[in-house]
Amino acid sequence: MTLKLAIPNKGRLYERSVELLLKSGLDLGEDWGRRLYVTDKCHGIEVMFVRAQDIPEFVYSGAVDLGITGRDQVVESGYNLDYLLDLEFGHCRLSLAVPEASGVKSVADVPHGARVATSFPRTTKKFFDSKGKNIKIITVSGAAEIMPYMGVSDMIVDLVSSGSTLKTNRLIELDRIVESQAVVVSKKGKGKDKESADIVDSIRSVIAAESKMYLIADIPKISLNTVEVMFPGMAGPTVVNIAGRDDMVAIQVVINKTDVYDSVNELRRLGGKGILTIPIDRLVP
Ligand code: AMP
Repeated sequence: MTLKLAIPNKGRLYERSVELLLKSGLDLGEDWGRRLYVTDKCHGIEVMFVRAQDIPEFVYSGAVDLGITGRDQVVESGYNLDYLLDLEFGHCRLSLAVPEASGVKSVADVPHGARVATSFPRTTKKFFDSKGKNIKIITVSGAAEIMPYMGVSDMIVDLVSSGSTLKTNRLIELDRIVESQAVVVSKKGKGKDKESADIVDSIRSVIAAESKMYLIADIPKISLNTVEVMFPGMAGPTVVNIAGRDDMVAIQVVINKTDVYDSVNELRRLGGKGILTIPIDRLVP
């Protein structure tokens, strides 16, 4: 059976989505950048390049088995899909923001009938309904930040990452409605299929490996206790005898990338030799 996977065809989520698939070992061929879909025949996976906004619909309807898109898009779609994996990129939040000069300091201050510009009408309505506020939604397909300035709306609900666009447009963030990042989704219960689980596990192992390094070193046997304390890590270091050496052993251990600097210096001070750090492609704990 061919597994169908939809990923964004452009925009902020596109490049990293492709990178994760390639690092997971999918063969997308030579010209995937110019194709609307590609098939990795070896692994029986078809990758469709479509708009991030449409992906929840395609997953829900069964047109594809899995999708990579922003959590915000899944929430906005209203479909009850399974979140199989957080991809740790595309972080942003869907927030309510008002002009600095509006005097509105909290959601409670939002007057009934306020005009709210957004590309997320469904989520916005749900949010204000939950607050007991009757507002008027003005649906736009982008550039919501400028709507209060143009007099089109009194406030906005839009995606924010650093907050600098809000600042530039003299808007204050009042409330966070959805915390988002790129996710892998499937239709309810479908992510447990072997084909889906295999690709999700592969992507997970790629993400897990990216923050780690493999470290190999020869160390004096007398330092072994200290080294074992230094690397409590996943399962402590693997210790291997070195032929013809009674005084030294070799250690192998997975460490955080952020610890490489200190670990190598410390091992050197303990008499370590032949210290190597090696990137890891995949890590399955
Ligand atoms: P795009 O195709 O570039 O419009 O990407 C849209 C998706 O990128 C959104 O649905 C979010 O999941 C994600 N994203 C991450 N940061 C931001 C941001 N600051 N503004 C808009 N979208 C963002």
